Amino acid sequence: MKNKLKNCWDKILEFLFPSNLKCVFCGRDVPSKDFCCCEDCLHTLPFNNGQRCKICDDEICGDGNICDNCKSHHKKFDKAIASFIYEGDVKKIVLKFKNDNAKYLAPHMAKFMFDRLKQETVSFDLILPVPLSEKSLNKRKYNQASLLAEEIAKLTNSSFNNCVLIKEKETKHQKELGFLDRQNNLHNAFKVVDKNAIINKNILLVDDVMTTGATANECAKTLKKYASKVYILTFARNKLSK
Ligand SMILES: [Zn+2]
Ligand SMILES: [Zn+2]
Repeated sequence: MKNKLKNCWDKILEFLFPSNLKCVFCGRDVPSKDFCCCEDCLHTLPFNNGQRCKICDDEICGDGNICDNCKSHHKKFDKAIASFIYEGDVKKIVLKFKNDNAKYLAPHMAKFMFDRLKQETVSFDLILPVPLSEKSLNKRKYNQASLLAEEIAKLTNSSFNNCVLIKEKETKHQKELGFLDRQNNLHNAFKVVDKNAIINKNILLVDDVMTTGATANECAKTLKKYASKVYILTFARNKLSK
């Protein structure tokens, strides 16, 4: 009942103050509902562009096309792609999307991810979200990665499945952990429940943020028992290079 009332109230607010006429980053007016981002933000947002690692998509300052981190820790995924660096207004809308029930942001965020994806030459058969554990899903009520994955599937006209990969192990909070500790924390946390759905397929795995890459790595390790290639697409990524 409480949820129904909240949904109703959200719909009234959306009718009175349509979110698609405001810049999703700074809240200023945009010229029409075709724009989700104002001119100023377009010029100042931390796009993840420039010279980047061809595996993890982190910025590279020196020579070469693979970063030091990928050289020292072999990644199980084939390539990661991220639209933004996780800072400033980008970080703000991710947190809003995740913790503030701002599900309406999903199609806007997915558009940026799709724009970046189009610049890459990855081909995939199936889109999967990074799953949440049952406990986290019950707490948040929705999986933010799944909302993004569904939008990307619509934009790319691809198949989407949010039941193939599950997170069956509840893990410790990862906020303060580095890559290796995260990797240990996530060891065997994920499980493929329908291997026939992914056998020999190329998978595009979607998440909101890539922090150290440990989650993406563990999911890729699990999927690759059956799947062929695993690509990761996120809205933002932490900048690991100094
Ligand atoms: Zn703006
Ligand atoms: Zn790298």
